[in-house]
Amino acid sequence: QVIYLNGKYVSKADAQISVYDHGFLYGDGIFEGIRMYNGNIFKCNEHLDRLYDSAKSIMLTIPLSQDELRQVLIETIRRNELRDGYIRLVVSRGPGDLGLDPRRSPKANVILIVEQLSIYPEEAYINGLKTVSVSTRRNVPDALNPKIKSLNYLNNILVKIQANLAGVGEAIMLNSQGYVAEGSSDNIFIVKRGVVFTPPCYVGALEGITRAAIIELCANLGYKVKEEPFTLHDVYVADEVFFTGTAAEVIAVREVDARIIGEGKAGPITTNLLKEFRKLVEVDGVK
Ligand code: PMP
Repeated sequence: QVIYLNGKYVSKADAQISVYDHGFLYGDGIFEGIRMYNGNIFKCNEHLDRLYDSAKSIMLTIPLSQDELRQVLIETIRRNELRDGYIRLVVSRGPGDLGLDPRRSPKANVILIVEQLSIYPEEAYINGLKTVSVSTRRNVPDALNPKIKSLNYLNNILVKIQANLAGVGEAIMLNSQGYVAEGSSDNIFIVKRGVVFTPPCYVGALEGITRAAIIELCANLGYKVKEEPFTLHDVYVADEVFFTGTAAEVIAVREVDARIIGEGKAGPITTNLLKEFRKLVEVDGVK
């Protein structure tokens, strides 16, 4: 495995950064998780756009242009000789002193890790996940904007801990007003009477790239999609519930807080969206 670290390609053992890095000390940095299918980088430019938007928002200078970073992505994948996998792209504020001031961290760390991916077993895509809602609340745009894909993932970690304690793989996070926001690292959709709903990002959800791809797929397939806030009640009584994300793709939910969703397995719209999404990833991407 070869890791890109600030212009060099190094082994896993040599991929080391300073304990003074503000990504480590303060969670000061941003990241992307990107998928590679059959040698194509899926939605490469969308991920890079989101990364550069996150960087601009937090005044973090990425020491490479977007084109240069795309080339680095391609080269890192080439050196790892992988055609299918997951790419973690991290830009941290870089080493500074123990104070918060980012002016003392003038040089960002840029790291790219390419790995094989193991997520849910295929059975989970057919039978759906069991999930619960948790008490951890999503940060909303008046605090740390969820549109910034930052290294501050503590609330998502707390959700994961609650999911672990409940013995489930993914959980549902609400915002402070009680509207459904998203999962720990996935966006959420529900289907009711043939209409597909997903929370607008302003309720506290990342602008997921898989989310956007699914919204577009729905339009192409003739499913009506509405981005509007909804509550746990709407989730409990939905005909279908599913999560979307780079790693998870489109994964059905069969149970939420002990309420069985629909038939208790992946419903017809979820199944079709997964099928169409898997067709799309094979053809859509940067070589
Ligand atoms: N929400 C959160 C909090 C995430 O970290 C992610 C990424 N894993 C998603 C949603 C899904 O976004 P994407 O489809 O861009 O992977």
